[in-house]
Amino acid sequence: MSTTPRPPSVDRLARAMAEVDLPHAVLVDLARAAIAEGPDAWSTEAAIERAEQFRLRLLSPVVNATGVLLHTNLGRAPYPFAHAERAINVEFDLTTGERGSRQAAVGGLFASLCGAEAAMVVNNNAAAVMLVLAALASDRQVLVSRGESVEIGGGFRVPDVMEQSGAHLVDVGTTNRTRLSDYSKALGRKNADVALVLKVHPSNYRVEGFVEDTPVEQLATLPVPVVADIGSGLIDANTPWLGGPPPAWLAGEPAAKQTLAAGATLITFSGDKLLGGPQSGIIAGDAALVAACIRHPLARALRPGAHVLLMLQQVAMSYLDRTAALSIPFWRMVATTNQELRTRADAIIHAAGVGDVVDSDAIPGAGSAPGTTIASVAVRVRGDHLAALRANPTMPIVARARDGHTFLDLRSVRADDDALLASALRACAS
Ligand SMILES: *Cc1c(COP(=O)(O)O)cnc(C)c1O
Repeated sequence: MSTTPRPPSVDRLARAMAEVDLPHAVLVDLARAAIAEGPDAWSTEAAIERAEQFRLRLLSPVVNATGVLLHTNLGRAPYPFAHAERAINVEFDLTTGERGSRQAAVGGLFASLCGAEAAMVVNNNAAAVMLVLAALASDRQVLVSRGESVEIGGGFRVPDVMEQSGAHLVDVGTTNRTRLSDYSKALGRKNADVALVLKVHPSNYRVEGFVEDTPVEQLATLPVPVVADIGSGLIDANTPWLGGPPPAWLAGEPAAKQTLAAGATLITFSGDKLLGGPQSGIIAGDAALVAACIRHPLARALRPGAHVLLMLQQVAMSYLDRTAALSIPFWRMVATTNQELRTRADAIIHAAGVGDVVDSDAIPGAGSAPGTTIASVAVRVRGDHLAALRANPTMPIVARARDGHTFLDLRSVRADDDALLASALRACAS
């Protein structure tokens, strides 16, 4: 007759796991779960491994050595600014001492920045599109080109967002070609009750060949408002903050200023893609329509917190005073020369005692400018060290592996993390 081994006490097992830096109460829960699972899970080694895996799931700053500058799984644009541990006058008017508007200050800055009458901020671009549709098109029709009825990243599907907002989607044109006359025909139909035209930038994919879409200039001649979801939040196609011509990879990416100048009534975009700020969504354009969005009950559910607003304010300021290339981490990554990256890579392999320096292709990421690359420089090390780098004790490092080598692309790495990379690589090699 076989006997089932006796489990250790929860408390003894939790104490045996104490080398993992977690609160005792968490270790107790993990020990209890291990014991419930059976003898294989309740050995000291297995329990410590379980605690270690739990610790790696906690949120933590990481070194992004993937070369994907805006990595959605790594929080997209790195936070550019710190803030004091203090109260913020988010809804308090310092002139009158009375309650103020959460949207006034930052909305005003984004209006200036985009050349719009007004602007407001919500939690992300999905929320921006949802709010615009709910406030302006509830129970009415919205025309969308069949070529733009798309799914963007994790579950942003235009038809689904439309349905949730209470607006009725009317597809116009065909998957590859939609002309102004397709929109006019839908507007002229008997019983048409069209609230607006929605133009969606198909961010993360590209249809090539026999393709035609209707530019905002033409849509603006229709007798209904045109809402353009431009996605990435490129503020100005001329990138004046870079002090030179726009980088080639930006070609084709719609910009806020130019889309409004072309006649869009409203635009929506993300705050944490090419804008380079915290997760947020911006709605900018016609003052009466922005006001209708601010008044809608959903606006309360979608409003951002004070810290997000404060960071966005600083982002907007740095575009307005043209210091964005230096103060916004994303644009700093873009503006770094390959010569600088090569110098850093040489220093890293020298300090690490392993690896060589290779050319690399970075990408903007987060669905921005799909199919384009940014020339970059990587440190290459023989072998796949991804797991060890992720478990690096000072700070997890996320890299890429290919053809039996590990690649650390330096364009997405802060220069002050180079020493950390070097010591992690030295540890991998030994
Ligand atoms: C990224 C993107 C979205 C979703 O934006 P989130 O800020 O992630 O909610 C919506 N529309 C377009 C065109 C996008 O590129």
